[in-house]
Amino acid sequence: MRRILILGGTSEGRALAAALAEEPDVTVVSSLAGRVRNPRLPVGEVRVGGFGGVDGLCDYLRDNRIDRVVDATHPFAAQITANVAVATHLLDIPLLMLRRPQWEPGTGDRWTPVASLDAAAAALPTLGSRVFLTIGRQGVDAFADADAWFLVRAIDPPEGRVPPRSTLLLDRGPFNLDDERELLRGNAINLLVTKNSGGSVTEAKLVAARELGVPVLMVQRPPVPAAAAVTADVAAAADWVRVPSRH
Ligand code: NAP
Repeated sequence: MRRILILGGTSEGRALAAALAEEPDVTVVSSLAGRVRNPRLPVGEVRVGGFGGVDGLCDYLRDNRIDRVVDATHPFAAQITANVAVATHLLDIPLLMLRRPQWEPGTGDRWTPVASLDAAAAALPTLGSRVFLTIGRQGVDAFADADAWFLVRAIDPPEGRVPPRSTLLLDRGPFNLDDERELLRGNAINLLVTKNSGGSVTEAKLVAARELGVPVLMVQRPPVPAAAAVTADVAAAADWVRVPSRH
């Protein structure tokens, strides 16, 4: 029996756990950070909470005799991705990164790419005054001093400071185009700020912004660890897990 660790917290992580659920020679453990109060759980065994840095992760991988790891975390979860790259390298455990493709601008899009949330906050004043902020719960404090009104959408309330002029909308995707169009129109949104998360679940806001001529501040992804093998395809990741030996 081979033991596989999936670092999850994404729809891809859940899809991979489901794809491997009936696999006869494979035991899957999905790991969640424990940030979301009421998370969507993957099928099968789940553990919740941080490992305690690289050292804690190495201990976990050793103690649980993990044979292979799939990092299916969110593209912006850079810390755990860096940690697992180091830990698996130290222990010589095969690692695959499962990453959805990023969104690409199309005809009619008015995107300004920025390197970070702080860069987005700095660029904001010249671009819009009524902002739809869809960056999740973390990092909202980067906009706390911005002179604009914000519609902040997240699954759980943000921690830390929020912009003084803001309305919080607690909601979880998938979001459809009609609702996103209505949200932008109804709130007279003139700027969308988002991370380039990719995927279909939250893509409708970008189509609505394009249709309504709303500019987008698009926060670029952090780089992936240089040596990592990467796929965007859940089926390919499942095949990678199924192959008995990678050494
Ligand atoms: P992060 O900054 O990369 O990680 C911070 C710390 O959280 C890690 O060092 C680790 O703690 C712990 N951690 C993160 N992911 C974990 C996992 N899957 N299992 C166990 N521990 C984990 O991560 P983040 O950006 O806070 O994201 C946390 C989780 O939310 C991830 O699982 C990610 O897939 C999901 N998520 C993130 C975003 C986003 O925009 N960042 C969006 C949607 C979902 P230790 O050092 O103690 O091990």
